[in-house]
Amino acid sequence: SSGGYNIALVRVGCIGFCKEEPIVNITIPGKPLVILHQVSENDAEAIVNAVLKGGVPDEKVLCKVSSWDHITRTIIYGTGFEQIPDYHDIPFFSRQTKVILRDAGFINPEDIDEYIAVGGYQAFVSAVSSRTPEEVIDIVKQSDLRGRGGAGFPAGLKWEITREAKGHLKYIVCNADEGDPGAYMNRNEMESDPHMLIEGLLIGAYAIGTSDALIYIRAEYPLAIERLRKAIDQAREYGLVGENILGTGFSCDIQLATGAGAFVCGESTALAASIEGKTGRPRPRPPRLTDKGIWGRPTDLNNVETFCNVPVILTRGAEWYRGIGAKGNTGTKVFSLVGKVENVGMVEVPLGTTLDTIVSEIGNGGAGGKSVKAVQTGGPSGGCIPARLFDTPVDFEHLNEAGSMMGSGGIVVMDEDTNMVDIARYFINFATSESCGKCVPCREGLKHTLLILNKVMAGKGTAADLEMLESLSDTIQATSLCGLGQTAPNPVLTTLKYFREEYEALISEGT
Ligand code: SF4
Repeated sequence: SSGGYNIALVRVGCIGFCKEEPIVNITIPGKPLVILHQVSENDAEAIVNAVLKGGVPDEKVLCKVSSWDHITRTIIYGTGFEQIPDYHDIPFFSRQTKVILRDAGFINPEDIDEYIAVGGYQAFVSAVSSRTPEEVIDIVKQSDLRGRGGAGFPAGLKWEITREAKGHLKYIVCNADEGDPGAYMNRNEMESDPHMLIEGLLIGAYAIGTSDALIYIRAEYPLAIERLRKAIDQAREYGLVGENILGTGFSCDIQLATGAGAFVCGESTALAASIEGKTGRPRPRPPRLTDKGIWGRPTDLNNVETFCNVPVILTRGAEWYRGIGAKGNTGTKVFSLVGKVENVGMVEVPLGTTLDTIVSEIGNGGAGGKSVKAVQTGGPSGGCIPARLFDTPVDFEHLNEAGSMMGSGGIVVMDEDTNMVDIARYFINFATSESCGKCVPCREGLKHTLLILNKVMAGKGTAADLEMLESLSDTIQATSLCGLGQTAPNPVLTTLKYFREEYEALISEGT
């Protein structure tokens, strides 16, 4: 309280515009919310003085938010701030459709009341009190929501299979073991709006018919863990987690399990083994987790973002959701846009948006005005897509056709200075060190691939080495046990396909 003003300092989540951080939002009653960017401790006094006079420090203003988001509601409209550009006039924001991230950066993730104030938990309460589990599953099926962890399996169908699986005791598990280099979408979703995940998970538990929910989260995300713990405790205090929730007879508890840093534990069967306290190694499928998962019980496993989509689908309806994105690829996808791009940040766009829109319009092209050469989508197991194919729509099928994949949503941008052979080597090195070693093609094949790439990078490669890289990659893809090995050669195969001249240049340099 100062000079008759009450000023509250509240921590919010991340608005996604990493390039402009640290960011401060100012809300003055009766005026639009104003976003300040690139602030530092030294700006604190000027900010407070400006606010005390009912204004904002001009030199730090990024934009104002007259309409909080276009999805659910509007906030305060005010006058006197006409000269400030609007949130929707900034290309970084205007080309995005924020569904999952609609409140990220605006609400306090550690306060359940703020989540409830923006409509939070309405979908869950309405589901458990007035809908049958089958009806909930039907709505999710009608929305055509596909799993956001990378495989794109229909989420409603997976829930139905788990619900119908034999066995009284079942589990629902959230895979929050996000380990791709350059990917931090799930981290942002959990840190900025943890109750959204909790709500989606509770709805899923009700739908499949279980009272045991679990979030498997990587230990390297301490803030997300802390916020999820707080969120679960708050939800329990409000009677939304625990026995006989809101007197409906439905009970559900949520536990957190932390991973120990193994990338392969993002694979479903390795994740299940890790939860059971065993070494996190994949096993052959079938049986699938939906039949025989954790401790032999039917288990539904979905990614963080899949669960985050569920409350808004129930609130707004399947038809509304299908109106976003493309046929067979409905809704939005959150991407972390990183690497040699001007606007590094967290980006949410309808599925089917082209790579060009993401990289050139939202990302504003190459960092420092350099030309963009390629992007890597899908993490270490994805592929490199050249700039000439940037009209590719970003959806599950088109990325596969280009030799890459959706993965969980990392987009790494490479510019004219990037050596694509070195990029392939980086990702193979990553996959080699994360291979669990259970099967020969992945364990030995990746090691050998790395040796060849090192040789090529040292200028000692031959044309025969390039042929060997191709045939080794094909073998590893075809014979590895799990997704890690099956997809690990993608960076090599796509760089050989699209940037073969860079390999050949290194070979000729050495001869
Ligand atoms: Fe392990 Fe690689 Fe085989 Fe998967 S493919 S089981 S990570 S050795």
